[in-house]
Amino acid sequence: MFTDPISITTIACTTAIAFIAIVVALKWKAQGDSVISALQTAKLDADEAKAALESAKIHGCIDRTRRRQVEAVFDVLRDSVLVIDAHGEILHANECAAGLLSVAPSEVAGMPLAEVVLDHQLISTISDARCGLPKEGRQYEQEIQVGDESIAYEVHLQSVGRKDEPMHAVVTVLRDLSKEREIARLKSDFVSKASHELRTPLSSISAYIEMLVDGDAADETARQEFYAVISTETDRLQRMIDNLLNISRIEAGLMHIDRDRVEFGSLIERAVKNMKPQARAKKIDIHTQLASVDLAVRGDSDMLYQVVVNLLSNAIKYTPEGGRIVLAADAENLTHSLHFSVSDTGLGIAPDQTEKVFDKFYRVENYRRVAHGTGLGLNLCRHIVETLHSGQIGVDSKLGMGSKFWISIPTGDCSAKLAA
Ligand code: ADP
Repeated sequence: MFTDPISITTIACTTAIAFIAIVVALKWKAQGDSVISALQTAKLDADEAKAALESAKIHGCIDRTRRRQVEAVFDVLRDSVLVIDAHGEILHANECAAGLLSVAPSEVAGMPLAEVVLDHQLISTISDARCGLPKEGRQYEQEIQVGDESIAYEVHLQSVGRKDEPMHAVVTVLRDLSKEREIARLKSDFVSKASHELRTPLSSISAYIEMLVDGDAADETARQEFYAVISTETDRLQRMIDNLLNISRIEAGLMHIDRDRVEFGSLIERAVKNMKPQARAKKIDIHTQLASVDLAVRGDSDMLYQVVVNLLSNAIKYTPEGGRIVLAADAENLTHSLHFSVSDTGLGIAPDQTEKVFDKFYRVENYRRVAHGTGLGLNLCRHIVETLHSGQIGVDSKLGMGSKFWISIPTGDCSAKLAA
């Protein structure tokens, strides 16, 4: 595709002239002086042919280099590219096109399109496009069978050639739409879950306000009960909105965090002190097991406190009366990481749900009546630990036996006290 036909003609002509001149010169050999001049002419022509040959070699090298450069550009593209010549043979297929071909892209050059492309509809649209397309090309969406899967692609066809030529070369660019479609599905899934979860406390608030307005509260005690429900549901709504905003800020990379030395031990003690009343109300014992090593990490104190409180609050919520909760922390010098866990003797989580509990709005269906919640706490914890502090979060659990939620965070440079 990149060899210049004019230079080939020039070499061929010059070589032919030189050859003829040599033959003529040999024929004149017997004719004295004229032989010398004929030989000189022949030598000049041969020199010219040699020079033309050298120049063609250089051009050939440049063409090959250019071709390799263009192919390298195609290969870095994340879209599949197929270049088909006017005769329906493949000139180039980039690496991304591998899934669409029956042989490796490096081996397809020169092969007929129909022999290497698996999808019949794609073959026929590319073949049609060789008869010419509008200047702006043609774009459409198509499901293409790749192995066992059917993948949605945006296909862009562009024919390349002069108008007066009957057949054209065709460049086909195929963009995989699976990721875009998955994002669109997740977005609409999120909107429907969010509106459902936000509507629940809102309906409750509006129902109780309506009852108060209609005078349905018989006395002051009933009125106070109604106010309490409204207040609880408003708090829940507030928490849900705060969590949602924080999660989307972290996901968008807009969350600013302070990185200071955080004494994890005191963070845990503060959380236990604040959550004691809830635990006491359910007669749940809380124990702490803090290793006597430096339990400091470099991170955002408020965010990490939120993680400890969320895990502890869940342990209290999903542990029946009389249970036991242990908060443990240790630091590992070898891996420079801090390990913190909250173990409970609560309801536990079935194996098929242990990963799902970290998803937005996921709540174990049977536990909805056990405690109020937003289904956002663990997702926020995951973002704080993994996205903001490059750590890890997980859970080990046995249904009916209890759960152990754990995090591990790189300690960072905490050797010296950092300025707050
Ligand atoms: P929620 O506000 O509903 O507690 P989370 O995101 O914090 O939301 O937790 C998601 C779900 O994971 C909870 O609804 C609950 O079903 C389950 N879960 C969380 N912590 C525990 C635990 N310690 N024991 C049992 N189930 C838990």
